[in-house]
Amino acid sequence: MIATALPEDFGDLRARLAELDDLGHAARLLGWDQQTHMPAGGAAARGEAMATLERLRHERAVDPGLGDALERLAPWAAGRPADDEAAAIVRVARRDHDRARRVPVELTAEMARASSEAIGVWVQAKRRSDFGLLLPHLERNVELRRRLAACFPEAEHPYDALLDHYEPGMTTAQVRAVFDGLRERLVGLIDAIAARPHPPPPPGPFPVAAQRQLALDIVRSVGFEEAGWRLDDAEHPFCQGLAPGDIRVTTRFSEQNLQGVFAVLHEVGHGLYEEGVDPGLARTTMGTGVSLGIHESQSRLWENFVGRGEAFWRHWHPRALALFGDAALGGSELADFLRAINAVRPGLIRVDADEATYALHVVLRFELELRLVEGELAVADLPRAWNQGMQELLGVTVPDDARGVLQDIHWAAGEIGYFPTYALGTIVAAQLWRAARADIGDLDERLAAGEPQALREWLRERVHRFGRTLDPVDVLERATGSRLDAGPLLDHLEAKLGALYGLNVSR
Ligand code: ZN
Repeated sequence: MIATALPEDFGDLRARLAELDDLGHAARLLGWDQQTHMPAGGAAARGEAMATLERLRHERAVDPGLGDALERLAPWAAGRPADDEAAAIVRVARRDHDRARRVPVELTAEMARASSEAIGVWVQAKRRSDFGLLLPHLERNVELRRRLAACFPEAEHPYDALLDHYEPGMTTAQVRAVFDGLRERLVGLIDAIAARPHPPPPPGPFPVAAQRQLALDIVRSVGFEEAGWRLDDAEHPFCQGLAPGDIRVTTRFSEQNLQGVFAVLHEVGHGLYEEGVDPGLARTTMGTGVSLGIHESQSRLWENFVGRGEAFWRHWHPRALALFGDAALGGSELADFLRAINAVRPGLIRVDADEATYALHVVLRFELELRLVEGELAVADLPRAWNQGMQELLGVTVPDDARGVLQDIHWAAGEIGYFPTYALGTIVAAQLWRAARADIGDLDERLAAGEPQALREWLRERVHRFGRTLDPVDVLERATGSRLDAGPLLDHLEAKLGALYGLNVSR
């Protein structure tokens, strides 16, 4: 809680931050609507509206009055204890302000407008598998991001400035080092699995209404406040927290598989993070996840470490059998079902990728982004580089751009530097999972009883409640006692998949 004896300037700061937060709220709502309900004809006008909102938000973020208030509060904040919330608000708001001040207003508005237009074109381009349609928009997005990176000339690598936007404090060199280690052991594991017989996927069909029911039952057991969220369909599933008590989760159901259920678990993991932030941080711009990597650790933890685990399905498998029938699940044995939902199959689509191959999809995107930003790769050559990378990393042949370079919305949305956070999140999820299991001795028994609330409380206490008031690296260290480390993830995958595939993995 914020103490009573606060400097007068702090009230001024809170009022300014509340206005910034409200403008962000409106922009997030327009963005959610754009991907869920807006007809295609609304794209151009929506782009203008979002650009205007972004310009207003940016103008307030760089307001010299805000800078003056922060300047006057800085000595006071520096003298406060490390975990003082009000002081943390000053410290983080100052960093945000400094960063925003270095980006020209016109560039910010131009990026918002270009992204919004490109998202509309991306939907068409993907539908027709026509990369040429999107090409000029992507070229503009890359050019705008290179101009953004140039606003931070002190960075060791131009990509650092883009990465820092999503993962404060993380550098290109650090990501490269962690990804190199991850890739080496992962490729070895995937190669070993490739030589083993593969379990067939559950045959289905899985009626969408039944999937929705199962997903909602699971979410209810976690204790996600019912009046505080809603579920909609979207081409590319995402979660958008608008405010405490208003969290928008989206998914994409298909009768062919259970991916939509896992997508709900994933996005609800994001939603629980937004919901678990200290309510005292509402309307301060600190009341959200500290970084995309830490955010993704929450979704991955629920989707994979809980949602693909044996303990969890000991409770939910009978319910799935009742909803879909033995034949759809490929038999009534839990062990067969677990093998099926954990099968490792190198494929084309990142969001459909299994737990083991997923990170390699991210490594490819990271390497391509680096080359785009460095100017080593022309946007027009992206499809060819993509297809080549997929062949090298995963051994798959890309049949068309819809299932290749056009599959993700991120580059159309101008989000370059975002992809690495997916793999960073998976790495952090494994570290948190290891720590939570050590702290909650009977976690498996609780999950098997359909009671995941203890895990949710542990995450709220160790991660969620701080919002943006701690640095990502500090959140990780406080919760797990260690720094970023791919070891727990690789250990987890080798142990779990080693058992499922009968591998002789020893380390
Ligand atoms: Zn996610």
